[in-house]
Amino acid sequence: MNHAQFRFYGELNDFLPHERRQVAFAHPFDGSPSVKNQIEALGVPHPEVALILANGEAVPFSYQLQTGDRISVYPRFTTLDVVPAAQIHPEPLPEPRFVVDIHLGRLAGYLRILGFDTLYRNDYEDEEIARIAGAEARIVLTRDRGLLKRKGVVYGYCPRESDPRRQVVEVLRHFALFASLAPFRRCIGCNGPLQAVEKRAVEERLPSPIREIYHEFSVCGECDQVYWKGPHFQEMQEFVAQVLEQERGSGVRGRGSG
Ligand SMILES: [Zn+2]
Repeated sequence: MNHAQFRFYGELNDFLPHERRQVAFAHPFDGSPSVKNQIEALGVPHPEVALILANGEAVPFSYQLQTGDRISVYPRFTTLDVVPAAQIHPEPLPEPRFVVDIHLGRLAGYLRILGFDTLYRNDYEDEEIARIAGAEARIVLTRDRGLLKRKGVVYGYCPRESDPRRQVVEVLRHFALFASLAPFRRCIGCNGPLQAVEKRAVEERLPSPIREIYHEFSVCGECDQVYWKGPHFQEMQEFVAQVLEQERGSGVRGRGSG
């Protein structure tokens, strides 16, 4: 039996049992498996890994583990000061786009409210999510580690929080997206783009009190849903304000990188 020493950093520790968090530990293995294979065997899904060092040198996922290796595994560089070129995904995604698993429907809705292109269906199969992620270079959001470990998934994240509003903040922080919010430009129901329209274009479809009270309207380019700035809109506005507020507060409760 061969042995390597593993040490996981930052939020990757969330996937480990307590006794293995924040410490180096010995890991036995047979033959010469890829380092990716062994990282996942230890519980950490590969899309959350940004940098692997073997005996101090950056290595790719395909690196074949050898006995006596000292392996350090790091999460995304937003939480660590590492050389971007050495990272497994040195290029950031040109546009952050998501595909969300069936259990995170409310998170998907919130991401749409904030303007992010987010695919979600309540009947998605894991296989389909992995296929869409691969074909469209989308970030997979799921708490199912098995799904994140699938081969086709390159970009992904497992929200640690269970409350959808906290999950949104977590995702925005993880991918450093607070500067990319574009609220109220996307349909919450279908992800289609919203277009501002004249009142008279939608007037006959509005219930009478709405017709009298509101003057600004948008229509979804995909499903034709009409949006107006009613109480629901105000709720969304408050939500966006809260998200930004939490970000400002995050300096205080930021997590350590060790
Ligand atoms: Zn729509």
